[in-house]
Amino acid sequence: MTAYLVGAGPGDPGLLTARALEVIAQADVILHDRLIPPGALAHARDDAEVIDVGKVGGGEQTPQQETTRLLVEHARAGRTVVRLKGGDPFVFGRGGEEAQALRAAGCAFEVVPGVTAGVAAAAYAGIPVTHRGLASAVAFVTGHEDPDKDETAIDWAALAAFPGTLVFYMGVRQLSRIAEQLIAHGRDPLEPAAVVERGTLPEQRAVRATVGALGGVDARAPAVTVVGPVAALHGELAWFAGGPLAGLSVAVTRARAQASGLAARLRALGAAVIEAPAIRIEPLDVELPDPRGYDLLVLTSPNGVDELFRHVPDARALAGPTIAVIGPGTAAALVARGVQADVVPSRAVGEGLAEALAGRSFRRALVARAEEARDVVPEALRAGGTEVDVVALYRTVAEPLSESVRAQALGADWATFTSASSVRSFHAAAGTLDGPRLASIGPVTSAALREVGHEPDLEASDHTPDGLVAALVATAGRG
Ligand code: SAH
Repeated sequence: MTAYLVGAGPGDPGLLTARALEVIAQADVILHDRLIPPGALAHARDDAEVIDVGKVGGGEQTPQQETTRLLVEHARAGRTVVRLKGGDPFVFGRGGEEAQALRAAGCAFEVVPGVTAGVAAAAYAGIPVTHRGLASAVAFVTGHEDPDKDETAIDWAALAAFPGTLVFYMGVRQLSRIAEQLIAHGRDPLEPAAVVERGTLPEQRAVRATVGALGGVDARAPAVTVVGPVAALHGELAWFAGGPLAGLSVAVTRARAQASGLAARLRALGAAVIEAPAIRIEPLDVELPDPRGYDLLVLTSPNGVDELFRHVPDARALAGPTIAVIGPGTAAALVARGVQADVVPSRAVGEGLAEALAGRSFRRALVARAEEARDVVPEALRAGGTEVDVVALYRTVAEPLSESVRAQALGADWATFTSASSVRSFHAAAGTLDGPRLASIGPVTSAALREVGHEPDLEASDHTPDGLVAALVATAGRG
């Protein structure tokens, strides 16, 4: 029943405040800027209405009036509405105007301050905005205005005389004119300056300059410009290296439900991730026999574990049989349910599991898996004299790709494949695999790539999503 004016911080998801995450999770409606940290909405309610009112420079944008109108309208209707803004809502965020509109409309609101870019981007570049002996004051300035226009709101003479650090937000295209104004009003052209682009994000880039040289810096928004002796500390204190995958684009083709974990890990390492789900998990309407009637239960995927627990609401039903899984990912999915697998092969493929089970004798085995899974394990068990029931709990079905996602995925540096079905479905949906280098989770997925005529450029030696990420870092990462 309240409106929240919330700062999302400058980009690093770790700089979202605890309060911001709390109110995002409660919101009925979220009106957000374009510049919000990746994953900021991950814990929004599934039924929350999420509206991007992001302002795209020169492109289509929701006018401020319209944003304010939406905000007031939803608040008046008694909804919990979160207005999520980059950085801090009251620092060049027009949060003050929105608060005034809410107050005028008689709507209750709360302000959740955020970490502002001018402080955080500078800090991630190793620049303290104040520093004993170098700067005892700091000014946040909009660089947005055209410094040449007659009625500028900025008093350049006062700004040039300001005894401390100047941090300019916006206006990277105005850098040369900002520098001219500062110098014309008495600032030393040799004074240190720095431009920090995409601060706090894995792809952050910081450029050291002097006031006189600012005009020559090729910078793209979003960036802040720091003017003052503290800018020189960048050389000594720079600490943030970005991620090992910074600068690489990586397409993730696995089902949407599972993609977010892999995507988040890749993003955290600096990659630009394109989510291009080629498959979707479809539960099948089947009867699962009571696991207590078996002395071996075999699970061959994390999805299989999730589907199993739709049928087995009480984990005690699994107390009897030996539980064998195909690999660490499936074992982890079980652990999340409070169940420890008994057999986890060192090679996470059907053959590896068959080997791990060889030499042990079981009377009856239940294999719960995907419809399209391979028969290596059931066949090996039968050959060993075990009576085997195979139950397909789900199947993976192809998802269509939109033209723009297809183009982005094929234009990526790498495409990742975590199953044979994602290879086949992606290839069918995209019509080709030409373009990106191809990263495969393991031999079965690699075989599927070869079937469609492509040699994988990389195959993980540990056949798990983490293993795939590690292999990408080892092969493609810098440093
Ligand atoms: N309310 C925001 C500022 C919004 S104005 C805050 O408190 O940070 C948008 C400007 O913020 C951008 O033009 C840029 O100057 C700055 N900015 C936002 N995110 C940034 C980032 N990750 N790195 C550098 N500057 C950023």
